[in-house]
Formats: sequence, C-alpha cells, structure tokens
Amino acid sequence: MAVALITGASQGIGAAIAKRLAKDGFDVAINHSPKESSKEKALAVAEECKAFGVRAVCCAADVSKMADCEEMVKAVKEQLGSIDALVNNAGITIDKLLARMTEEDYDAVIAVNQKSIFNMLKNVCPVMMKQKHGRIVNITSVAGLYGNPGQVNYSASKAAIIGMTKTIAKEYGRKNITCNAVAPGFINTPMTEALSDEVKTKLLDNVALKRYGKPEEIAGVVSFLVSEDSSYVTGQVIEVSGGISM
Ligand code: NAD
Repeated sequence: MAVALITGASQGIGAAIAKRLAKDGFDVAINHSPKESSKEKALAVAEECKAFGVRAVCCAADVSKMADCEEMVKAVKEQLGSIDALVNNAGITIDKLLARMTEEDYDAVIAVNQKSIFNMLKNVCPVMMKQKHGRIVNITSVAGLYGNPGQVNYSASKAAIIGMTKTIAKEYGRKNITCNAVAPGFINTPMTEALSDEVKTKLLDNVALKRYGKPEEIAGVVSFLVSEDSSYVTGQVIEVSGGISM
C-alpha cells in the first residue's frame, strides 16, 4: 500500500487532505504540532482515516525543527514502510502591516511555512530516491503569487515555496519524483475564521465564484497530484481560488 505523509494534518486543509488520501487508499501519516490539543485532533482524524480500511498513524513534530523532521520521517518509515507522497501543508499566519511587524513575527512565519519544507525535503527526498518514485505537493497561497497587505512575512514564505517547488522538480525529475504546488485562495478553516465578517465579505469581491472554498476542494487537487494521473505534471503551481486572478 502506498504511504502519504501530510504535515499539519490535525485540522483544516491538512485534515481534509489526510482523509481524502485515505479514501484514495493511501496509508496515512498524520503530522501534528507537539501541542496536546493538536494531538487530540490528530487522533480523531486518524480514526476517520482508518474507517476507509487503511493504516493511519499520528506523528508529533514541530516541522520548523530539522531534528523533529528527521525523527518523524524515520518513525514513519519504520511504522508504514515507505513514503510515496509528501504533502507539505503546515502553516501559520502572524498578520500585521510592515510598520507594526516585528523581526520575531517575520522569523516565526518563515520558520514554520518555509524552512519546514527544506527540513522535510532533506529527510524525505533520500527515501523517495531509493524507492525511485515519489510525489511531493507543497501548499503555497495566492498571497505568494500576488502579495497581500498585512502579510509580508506570509507572502514571502509562500513565494519561496514556489521557487523551491520548481527547483526540486528540476533536481529530482530524473529520479521519477514530481514536485508541484497548490495555491489556495480563501478557504474556510480555523486559519480564516479569525478574519472579521467585513474583511471576509470584501475579499469575496475579487472571487469569481463569490464564495469561500472548502478544505475538500484543495484535497481533491492534491489527490490528483499524488495519483498516477499526474505522472507527467511537475514544477507546476495550481491555483485553487475560485478564480481570484484572471
Ligand atoms: P489551520 O491553521 O487550520 O491548520 C494549520 C495546521 O498546521 C494546524 O494543524 C497546525 O497545528 C499545523 N502547524 C502549525 N505549525 C506547525 C508546526 N510548527 N509543526 C507542525 N504543524 C504545525 O490552517 P489551514 O487553513 O488549514 O492551512 C493549511 C495550509 O494551507 C497552510 O500552509 C496555509 O498557509 C495554507 N493556506 C490556507 C488558506 C486558507 O484560506 N485557509 C489559503 C491559502 C493557503
């Protein structure tokens, strides 16, 4: 059975991806941050995944830390045998206009959103190389493509992910490893719940479909990118935003 490792999968988009890939027949490794509340949520996601008849394990790791990622990848290999798909989904926001943003705000977002991907790639790519097969999907954002006021840290981290995706696609293509990115627009998750109703309504002005997206609508595109159907797709950024930019 193929194995998928999804980071930040205790809630929101990551949880939807874990459940969708379990439904597709993947054994799933559900990464969650070391917080106790995340562990409880991840265990609930694992139960839902197991209902599809696959194996599901939870792995606590702060993906901004290289040592945590190293340990997690080793544990997943030991428990599930391989890593065929990696979905780098974990992310945070600390939104402030540049004038108010501190160096700590900037560094924290870069560490979780961007450095984490380097940490995961360093540990997972050697595994995929040995297998001579792998699918990597990085979750970026429309903020990385177009910028967004109040998100200079977040948009920098998400734009960097696009460069990393294309570079990994070029470095590892000959090893039969694909690497693509998905750029969600505004998706209903705990991350966007924090926005005021006024901001939420205003954001929809630029969305052709005039509604927020659902986590499952991101999971469907990830499902395609880790499947055999996407075997000739690599280095691409697929925007799933209800038509924000046209
Ligand atoms: P969310 O806050 O609901 O979930 C984020 C997940 O990442 C949580 O499970 C959290 O525990 C985990 N996480 C955070 N820091 C971590 C760490 N250091 N180590 C391990 N796990 C950690 O957010 P979401 O909306 O589901 O976002 C998922 C991804 O999609 C993020 O990368 C986000 O930037 C991206 N995204 C979301 C939207 C949106 O509108 N919701 C839009 C564009 C991109």
